[in-house]
Amino acid sequence: MKNNGSTTGTGRTEPINCLHFINGQFTNSLNKKTFENINPATEEVLGTVAEGGKEEVDLAVAAARRALDGPWKKMTLTERSKILRRIGDLILERQDELAHLESYDTGKPLSLANKIDVPRAAYNFHFFADYIISINNEAQQQDDQAIHYSYRRPVGVVGIIKPWNLPLLLLTWKLAPCLGMGNTAVIKPAEWTPMTATVLMEICKEAGVPDGVVNLVHGFGPNSAGGAISEHPDVDAISFIGEPGTGSAIMKASAPSLKKLSFELGGKNPNIIFADANLDEVVETTIRSSFINQGEVCLCGSRIYVERPAYEKFLEKFTEETRKLKVGHPLESETNVGALVGKEHYDRVNSYIDIAREDGANILTGGGRPEGLEKGYFLEPTILTGLDRNSRCVREEIFGPVVTVLPFDTEEEVIAQANDTHYGLSATIWTNDLRRAHRVSHAVEAGIVWVNTWFLRDLRTPFGGMKHSGIGRTGGMHSLDFYSELSNITIKL
Ligand code: NAD
Repeated sequence: MKNNGSTTGTGRTEPINCLHFINGQFTNSLNKKTFENINPATEEVLGTVAEGGKEEVDLAVAAARRALDGPWKKMTLTERSKILRRIGDLILERQDELAHLESYDTGKPLSLANKIDVPRAAYNFHFFADYIISINNEAQQQDDQAIHYSYRRPVGVVGIIKPWNLPLLLLTWKLAPCLGMGNTAVIKPAEWTPMTATVLMEICKEAGVPDGVVNLVHGFGPNSAGGAISEHPDVDAISFIGEPGTGSAIMKASAPSLKKLSFELGGKNPNIIFADANLDEVVETTIRSSFINQGEVCLCGSRIYVERPAYEKFLEKFTEETRKLKVGHPLESETNVGALVGKEHYDRVNSYIDIAREDGANILTGGGRPEGLEKGYFLEPTILTGLDRNSRCVREEIFGPVVTVLPFDTEEEVIAQANDTHYGLSATIWTNDLRRAHRVSHAVEAGIVWVNTWFLRDLRTPFGGMKHSGIGRTGGMHSLDFYSELSNITIKL
């Protein structure tokens, strides 16, 4: 796999070098600084990435502010909807290229990028293309005294700061409603995964997004592009996805300019299995909710609790199915689990396996590098049992293919354990008892609860976390509420 030296998308499937995109132009950093983009599956250099900082963010924010008063603002919702639809169409036209780039950057299986990341990225645009034209603003009439109606306008310049695990899927999830409501954006992708965001800029331009409406600055977090966006006085809102600690730093940096914030943060999600559930269904879904995307999904159910009568049987089947997963090179079609995103993250995930050993865990399967994969950040799917509920492996987000399984005896006990965490993103409950399903769904502290399923989404529904897992909700009207300001107008009759 060779870098073809291109700086933007080519329609082919080779890795690309990545430049900033400011005011409709691809550009280097002012000081020409770059950093290397490493392929996590081979540890080879994929290409270079322009390293932006305060100067580039200043230029991007200035372009975005000017564009707020340009043709974008004058377009009708229907015209903007057509552009969103076109972006979705172009993403699908370039599916092969985008899926390859996403797989090179993240280490995820190409098949997964083709099945989930790219189609969902297109759907994010198609969904909001339809949704924005269905908005009804409220009107109230008070006898013959007055009529009140609400008027929705853009928030302004929005900073979009992204993680590396589902780069294109999550960027489009934010960018589509942001653009739909007439805002302009300054995007910072995660430093480990810059390629698909770069190509998306080319797609936006081709689809007819005016210059300056979307801008992209590559770089790092604090004291770099991320920090510069967070503290910029001309950025009106920040949409952030990442770790709770980073959310806290962004909140602090943005406090002087009182920005509107939307945070989707980490999770340590309980997967609660009652003995009356259909075990085959449970195991099939739990394999996905544990190890899909190398376990690098905020919604993964990495804390598994099984009611004692089903505990041994579940472990037997779950371990057997986990051992069948093929860890391999992301481009090979039979690969189920690819490489972790980068060395630093790989070392961090491995350090939890060391902690588990020190805490006396049983490693039922996994726990190391798979045979035959000497290079790349590969780790076998790992099941840990025998841990105390206070072990760091049970309490902290590992964000890799590592799950803990603990038995429980009563509903009260499992609810208490499920809630014994700062996180509150999602929970999964397996039971055929309808009343219990409702009871436990209401008792677990999570923004998203699935009963007898996982990852099933309707993009109109509220999405987001409680506690340290997030601030605010996105999805359907919740997204549009974040990306717009409502004014109430009262007219005396
Ligand atoms: P991260 O917080 O380390 O980084 C996210 C982004 O923030 C990156 O672009 C990074 O450069 C930037 N950043 C880092 N420090 C910054 C600072 N001080 N100011 C401004 N920007 C800064 O997160 P990550 O490691 O990329 O992603 C993994 C985390 O994201 C996990 O906790 C995961 O659960 C979470 N996540 C949550 C959701 C969700 O929907 N709730 C979805 C995906 C990932």
